[in-house]
Amino acid sequence: MARVILAEDDEAISEPLARALRRDGHEVAVLNTGQGALEVGSAGVGDLMVLDLGLPGIDGIEVIRSLREQGSKMPIIVVTARTSDLDFVVGLDAGADDYVAKPFRIDVLLARVRALVRRGSSPAIIRVGEMVIDSAARRVRVGDNEVPLTPKEYDVLLLLSQNVGKVMSREQIMKEIWRGEWFGGSKTLDMHVSGLRRKLAEAGVGREPTIGTVRGVGFRMEEIPAASGDQSARP
Ligand code: CA
Repeated sequence: MARVILAEDDEAISEPLARALRRDGHEVAVLNTGQGALEVGSAGVGDLMVLDLGLPGIDGIEVIRSLREQGSKMPIIVVTARTSDLDFVVGLDAGADDYVAKPFRIDVLLARVRALVRRGSSPAIIRVGEMVIDSAARRVRVGDNEVPLTPKEYDVLLLLSQNVGKVMSREQIMKEIWRGEWFGGSKTLDMHVSGLRRKLAEAGVGREPTIGTVRGVGFRMEEIPAASGDQSARP
């Protein structure tokens, strides 16, 4: 159960959605303006926000930016009829965690809400430097370049990226990714890691993440300090 802030000005969408969220066990507050969403969001009374980008008054993107500037870590799912890649990127850059394009099926949105509630404040979108992992879509890009990964490479990258700065031992990685199906030596893991390094470097724009080797132990996704002016440098 979560306290969901639903910011949507179209009652044909908000009414059935609020009903479905309540049926799913959530408490729901419905707001129909950007100002309202921002006020309730700022009050820190919500666990999660479902946010329409096209709201009267303050635009949804501005709502996200303001909340993030205030330090809010509340997961935000953007709901938008704007489906161009640019809008998607702008929403994520502003600090949204996930997005659903309109028109959407209610059960799809409910599943996204459940997933974000389960993950708590651990987002569906993970950023390390210029790399963005969209864990809902299992897609990775560095800057504007999509990184083509095999399923196992993706799993290894996600695990390391969820633990930036921490050493993950070979045993931990194998257990998490291959579960009971690990029959090979650790050479296979080395192959996946070197494949990852090569693909990230190829897609790189100078601030791609680096996977470090910790001799005798395992691997670590190195931290990348935030660059000043990073947000404003983007289109
Ligand atoms: Ca709208």
